[in-house]
Amino acid sequence: STPSVGPATGTRTHCPYCSLQCGMTLERSGRTLQVQPWADFPVNEGALCRKGWTATGLRGHRERLTSPLLRDGATGELRTASWDEALDVVATRMRALQAESGPDAVAVFGGGGLTNEKAYQLGKLARVALGTSQIDYNGRWCMSSAASAANQALGLDRGLPFPLADLERTDLVVLVGSNLAETMPPAARHLDRLRERGGRVVVLDPRRTATAERADLVLQPLPGTDLAVALGLLHLLDGAGAVDEEYVATRTTGFEDVRRSVAGWWPERVERVSGVAAEDLRELAGLLADAERAVVLTARGAEQHAQGTDTVLAWINVALALGLPGRDASGWGCLTGQGNGQGGREHGQKADQLPGYRMIDDPAARAHVAGVWGVAPETLPGPGRSAYELLEALGTAGGPRALLVTGSNPVVSAPNADHVTERLDALDLLVVVDLVLSETAARADVVLPVAQWAEETGTMTNLEGRVVLRQRAVAPPAGVRDELELLADLAARLGSPVPFGTDAAEVFAELGRASAGGRADYSGITHERVRAEQGVFWPCPAVPEGRAPHPGTPRLFAERFATPDGRARCRVVEHRGPVEQPDAAFPLHLTTGRVLAQYQSGAQTRRIRDLPDTGPFVELHPLLAARIGAADGEPVVVTTRRGSLRAPARVVDSIRPDTVFVPFHWVGANRLTHDALDPSSRMPEFKACAAAVWLAASP
Ligand code: SF4
Repeated sequence: STPSVGPATGTRTHCPYCSLQCGMTLERSGRTLQVQPWADFPVNEGALCRKGWTATGLRGHRERLTSPLLRDGATGELRTASWDEALDVVATRMRALQAESGPDAVAVFGGGGLTNEKAYQLGKLARVALGTSQIDYNGRWCMSSAASAANQALGLDRGLPFPLADLERTDLVVLVGSNLAETMPPAARHLDRLRERGGRVVVLDPRRTATAERADLVLQPLPGTDLAVALGLLHLLDGAGAVDEEYVATRTTGFEDVRRSVAGWWPERVERVSGVAAEDLRELAGLLADAERAVVLTARGAEQHAQGTDTVLAWINVALALGLPGRDASGWGCLTGQGNGQGGREHGQKADQLPGYRMIDDPAARAHVAGVWGVAPETLPGPGRSAYELLEALGTAGGPRALLVTGSNPVVSAPNADHVTERLDALDLLVVVDLVLSETAARADVVLPVAQWAEETGTMTNLEGRVVLRQRAVAPPAGVRDELELLADLAARLGSPVPFGTDAAEVFAELGRASAGGRADYSGITHERVRAEQGVFWPCPAVPEGRAPHPGTPRLFAERFATPDGRARCRVVEHRGPVEQPDAAFPLHLTTGRVLAQYQSGAQTRRIRDLPDTGPFVELHPLLAARIGAADGEPVVVTTRRGSLRAPARVVDSIRPDTVFVPFHWVGANRLTHDALDPSSRMPEFKACAAAVWLAASP
């Protein structure tokens, strides 16, 4: 992160990467496009991380695709093709496969980095132009467990139900499985200011990360045991009389059952299960009991488990017991990961949802959205498969035979990735929309090159639920198309019964109408408003003409929760732990995560010259390194029941001795990860499995 700078001229837009959506301006200077932070944008206040500073590095990159590619039947190689030829092949083959095997023969896989407009059009393409139920997106692997828990407990899923800046106005921040100092560095300034004011920060993470370095208390639980820690905390808080009895009586239901369920979670039991010392748990309980205001934040470390939803529910129970949600500078929230992780799931990319965060099996929702789309409700398909289940079904009997991928690189990012790659290779037709030849695009039959963020206009919804506007600063290279145009063209070639818009502001207005009255209501937001107001928080319903516009909703739940009776639901949850436990053959815990200089599957950031591309590495404790005879930098092999990875050892005392860590921005980490799914969110167990590690033999 960097110090603030003065106001800059140029086109105001937002970073292409994470969910902070830092404001930046882009200005042409000769042939280059210069990034300047947008000093008065409240989320980043003139700071950017190094990914943001170097974000224009893909513009004009030699690996940028500038022509569609088709796999040549004779040579098996990708060759350039015209847009007409490529789109005709896509439409003709998709229709032929559907004629043979039914509408669900074609599937769509989207991304949490797509703008709201593109996510909306992608859902409409699937349901209206293709008539398939088979659509989901990589956001299922991002914060779906938090979404599921928030919907169950609070009746609404918005990552942070308050502005990010509230973090510096509270007294205590508890971060469960978040490394925000490295994943979204400008956000760490709120923690720094909190501590300058005398507030406290607590971090729970198996690794002592850069975020932990800013903390007053660090707990290092075993991967997959955050739930047990929450149960133990609630046990202690209840025993200490710290439960806000009036709040739980008037604003929640189900607390007495939860209270009974944690009675056996003594700190010593938590210590046995999680490795967190009973003393440390007592200290955290004391901090929570004493804090007048407190914020509990979960992120991927807590959520990317087969018990991710229950884990988040357990932490929401802690927040509810203390009476935090809905109070000033207090509550529970989730730190979203992908740039549009929030908006990406609100507009119809999810297998079970229509725009406005409406459920696809709700007749009223179907009627409303079908009315906006100009089709009959009975023509809309029902719910489809979740992301991993969809990929697993590719090319199987009764599964999809063609897949359109956009904004995603599942060859790198899917769990049990070798298995997913096999399924992709079994397809009759793989179509990938991307900027560069990602690992997934390289296996495609058709590759369609599209504009990148600086070359297009569209909205994103950041981790606070703030809708922001990316504005086009430069034209895309010749041969590259705007993705809204591409989707409209493809829809027409598929014989869509209704036209698809191509102007982002118009598509957004249609999205707003489709969302009206839904849980994520955007109908009172326009591109113009977002431009003028530095973002607008949803829900923001349209109001009758002549009335003042709805101001948007920065803070939720002050008066009531979004449940039918206005009360939050306390849910009883039980700790089960990771699906795969260490044993004699695989005696260690493996967990995965991020590094500062890379973003997601690395398809963009690995190509940016000014960002260090270290390749994967294996982080291990000096005690473990000594046991296997590995020195720092020496190659080691990590193996799980699904695959192996050879990479240099990084010997650090910041990790538990029984745990190894591999970053997931390169091919390799997800060859190792487990594909067990959370029963509610369908989130895979990315963050915990059993592994073995040894010194690699010399090549
Ligand atoms: Fe900001 Fe995230 Fe972009 Fe870094 S990657 S500049 S934290 S939006």
